[in-house]
Amino acid sequence: MDMNADTCPEERHRNCWEVKNCPYSWNGSDPVSRAHCPASIPGKLDGLNNGTYGGRACWAVRGTLCGGEVQGDIVEKLSSCLECDFLMQVYEEEGKNIILIPTGF
Ligand code: SF4
Repeated sequence: MDMNADTCPEERHRNCWEVKNCPYSWNGSDPVSRAHCPASIPGKLDGLNNGTYGGRACWAVRGTLCGGEVQGDIVEKLSSCLECDFLMQVYEEEGKNIILIPTGF
């Protein structure tokens, strides 16, 4: 799977790893390992907020690798994520349809 799709980046909703030029994202073809951020691999939040995998709901993904350090769960990191430019970008793009706190996962 092409993680970055064929569409021009300006014409679609980008994922956190694209906005942040993140080195920890999975490329979609290598074997998945612990070196890959869980927001960038298939999981329960796939497609949320029109992202690829958890790429537009990373604040809700446990154990993301932002800054090269394993992060906690949504309860532990939401307060800092609420100050994140990327979360604000998703908020502006999704508007009232944004899912900030997913249920049932
Ligand atoms: S959540 Fe952070 S570490 Fe994970 S893919 Fe997105 S930008 Fe990279």
